[in-house]
Amino acid sequence: MKRAVVVICDGLRDDMVTPDLTPNLCRIAAHGTRFDGHRGIFPSTTRTTSASIATGCLPGRHGLEGNAMALDLGDGLEVFSVGPPAFRDKLQQATGRTLKVPVMAERLKHAGGAVIYSNVSPGAAIFQDPDGHGHMQHRSHATGPGRTPAAPLSVSHDAEGDAAMTRRFIDDVLQGSKPALALLWLCEPDHTQHGVALGSPAHLDVIRAADAQAGRVFDNVQAGIDAKEILLLCASDHGHESVGEVVDIENILIEAGFKDGAGSRDVAIAPQGTSATIYLAAEAKARRDDIVRLLEADPRIGGIWFGDAISELGLDPKGGIDIVVTGRSRETASEHGIPGTSVAFQGSIKISNNIGCGQHGGMGRYEQNPFLIACGPGFGKGERLVAGSSAVDLAPSVLAHLGQSVDGMDGRPLQAVG
Ligand SMILES: [Zn+2]
Repeated sequence: MKRAVVVICDGLRDDMVTPDLTPNLCRIAAHGTRFDGHRGIFPSTTRTTSASIATGCLPGRHGLEGNAMALDLGDGLEVFSVGPPAFRDKLQQATGRTLKVPVMAERLKHAGGAVIYSNVSPGAAIFQDPDGHGHMQHRSHATGPGRTPAAPLSVSHDAEGDAAMTRRFIDDVLQGSKPALALLWLCEPDHTQHGVALGSPAHLDVIRAADAQAGRVFDNVQAGIDAKEILLLCASDHGHESVGEVVDIENILIEAGFKDGAGSRDVAIAPQGTSATIYLAAEAKARRDDIVRLLEADPRIGGIWFGDAISELGLDPKGGIDIVVTGRSRETASEHGIPGTSVAFQGSIKISNNIGCGQHGGMGRYEQNPFLIACGPGFGKGERLVAGSSAVDLAPSVLAHLGQSVDGMDGRPLQAVG
């Protein structure tokens, strides 16, 4: 039976997939095709990208438009992190649904099924399969079909936990249940990158650790008698840049008189790392152009989108977001010589932005530069393609390999690109 195996090394930049740092990924690339022009989606955050990888759709279409989002639960606009498990229910309460389009687990429900093992935030894991069509394993959240509770994975949120999860994934899924789709999402190197300088010894250690897990999965797939029927996709969701400066948009708007005060419900600012999305309540819609002019004049802002132009980013201009800003990004290197430095943001909730350490969410060259390797039927060995592939192409590639429809997706099968 045809199967697909997907391994995501969270936050690994394409330019750091090298023979020295990632010998296993390079070994896998020698057996398959490496997509040199692979791009992330916007915002280049894990939770939005998780939903895009699961659905083959851009955030404007699947509806999870950030790592943080403003929702109106009946008491005005409030910004919530998508990370905690409870966010799924808040989204459903505010909008009457979870994602607007089906995930792979739903499309494969009666066609071999899907099993997801994820060691990132609960929210990023849940939006692989928010309505419980397949099996989900996470360190704090585990469900079977129908969202029936299961025993969570007993693993830590670090490279050691990734290794333990990979062992379980190989034993229980690749060797055991053998679903049509088996997806493994490692937390490293992203988890460590947020707290250390890019290129530092601690950073390089976790890149090597994630690479080792990808190598174990590859070896296991290769050793199987059905190796020729398996599509293996190894990828990251986004890259990283170093944080050069942190800008608190909430303070700026309050000081300028465009937001009533901290926590006020008139203007909601959702920080996405190196970008931010701004939502205006009905009584504040008239302030939009003044806010745009104010932020446009700030040299720390790299780009600003509002109105219909938001659709250029793959977001829905009618989805609730009124203004999008990205941080100015430069080639400036980290203290260990890794290029790419960007401005990061705080908003109505505060997130972890560490100056000199890694971050993502915006449009910077390196955060928009994840890697992708496809190995299996239809992919040449050792080929390199600059084909303009995107994170939304993973789901249609998996479904096309499994002989399923790819209708209703923004992405296209990589097999057609190759
Ligand atoms: Zn991250």
